[in-house]
Amino acid sequence: MGGATLAAALAPSGRSIVILERGQRLADTPECRDDQAIFRDGTFRPWEHWLNAQGHSFNPGTYYYVGGNSKFYGAVMLRYRAEDFEETRHLGGTSPAWPISYADMEPWYQAAEDLFEVHGDVDQDPTEPAHSGRYRFPPVKDEATIAQMRERLVKAGVTPSALPLAVDIDRWLGRGATPWDAFPDTNGGKRDAENVCISNALEYDNVSLITGAKVTRMLTGDKGRIVDVEYEKDNEVHRLDPGLVILSAGAVNSAALLLRSANNQNKRGLANSSGLVGRHFMNHNCSALLSVHPFRRNSAVYQKTLQFNDYYLRGGPRDMPLGNVQLLGKISGNILASNSSLPGFVANWIAGHSVDWYVMSEDLPDPESRVSLKDDTIVLDWKRSNWETHVALVRKAKSILRRAGYPVVLSRPFDRETPSHQCGTARFGHDPKTSVLDIWCRSHDHNNLFVVDASFLPTSAAVNPALTIAAQALRVADHINSKDLAA
Ligand SMILES: Cc1cc2nc3c(=O)[nH]c(=O)nc-3n(C[C@H](O)[C@H](O)[C@H](O)COP(=O)(O)OP(=O)(O)OC[C@H]3O[C@@H](n4cnc5c(N)ncnc54)[C@H](O)[C@@H]3O)c2cc1C
Repeated sequence: MGGATLAAALAPSGRSIVILERGQRLADTPECRDDQAIFRDGTFRPWEHWLNAQGHSFNPGTYYYVGGNSKFYGAVMLRYRAEDFEETRHLGGTSPAWPISYADMEPWYQAAEDLFEVHGDVDQDPTEPAHSGRYRFPPVKDEATIAQMRERLVKAGVTPSALPLAVDIDRWLGRGATPWDAFPDTNGGKRDAENVCISNALEYDNVSLITGAKVTRMLTGDKGRIVDVEYEKDNEVHRLDPGLVILSAGAVNSAALLLRSANNQNKRGLANSSGLVGRHFMNHNCSALLSVHPFRRNSAVYQKTLQFNDYYLRGGPRDMPLGNVQLLGKISGNILASNSSLPGFVANWIAGHSVDWYVMSEDLPDPESRVSLKDDTIVLDWKRSNWETHVALVRKAKSILRRAGYPVVLSRPFDRETPSHQCGTARFGHDPKTSVLDIWCRSHDHNNLFVVDASFLPTSAAVNPALTIAAQALRVADHINSKDLAA
């Protein structure tokens, strides 16, 4: 999301841009719309294992394709709320202030929403921060069950609003009647980093894309400049000698690459004079909630069009903030059976009668929550924080859903092996002692190195991250262009 957006924004400048991507383009196969292939068989997951804090190996739920994780995303394009840029107290600690304000980001949010053709309505959600323009496209339509759910929620006393979505619904459904959340996009039904940004960038002769190119390390020269980027392709090692390096391998892999590139001048890894690379790893605290009515079937195909933010800024114990409640893509019996020990017929019955929710609360930055390396293997030691907030939000959401007429509400936290909203491992800031990047995502240590993926985020807030990553990438591209930074 970060790298592709930045490449698209730099392309018209005429600079020679080479995009190195370890994955390939997703092929349009039947598995792309097959819930068992995706959720049970893990067809699209990488052939890779990481270690957890206990040293146990796991296959991470992250994706390596042209377009990265955005190929699989739920296409929810929410802005951080204005309050997320300020210091905020939570039940489990304090979320620090950003080094820049919401007003600094607002024009770039607007530009990112325009670029990704986000469908939404700025007037529905009272927590929506000020917009300088409106969404150019109306919200994706609620399906019948969801339209009824919207009315029921209003009666239950909350304020449902349309999820801002980068989805062309007719196009998506033209390829098959499935949800899009966690399904790979091969027909452009989602506006993702490949079909929006990589495509735009490759229209320029000065931009090229090398797929199957796994960057393995970066080398430094005089004055700390990055002088070579080393990558493997087809079992051969190649090197590029770039003017500027824009690292955007995702928050886990970017941190790993910086650490892996340690050398005599940078013994703790590149960009790591602060010792903070890999630290402050965050991933939202999330649960799935299935609200079930035994006599009411859910006929939705995609479902994911509603949210409520009544407890986002306040309303928890001691009036503390709790987080966001949004619909999941429709859960099928196959998806439920793949993620539980339920027999197929039970899973099918539940899925046929449930409306499915994604409940998300903020994970706070903790220096001990970190990405590191053991030999060459990634170690992900995620120390969840602020769990009490999440428990309170789940409890609140359940009581609202019961009040809305769903007598049974089942919940389950998302596992720790799917770092979908990974962020924070190279936080940006003013002070080189307490941050890895400056406020333009440039390394404090290496003049020609930028990191524009989710690593820069100093807080996770409690909204999906992609729009904020894209907005910051546009902001950084504008900075590079306006300063005419060459190296
Ligand atoms: C199932 C799912 C649903 C999601 N839904 C939403 C949503 O609705 N809304 C939202 O805001 N966010 C959502 N997200 C999260 C969102 O997709 C990510 O936050 C976003 O894509 C992160 O962007 P990024 O630039 O940090 O990295 P990524 O998108 O992860 O991109 C990193 C890229 O670097 C490549 N790469 C990695 N290592 C190397 C290497 N060594 N050499 C070369 N290339 C490398 C990868 O292949 C990838 O293309 C979802 C994620 C998942 C998995």
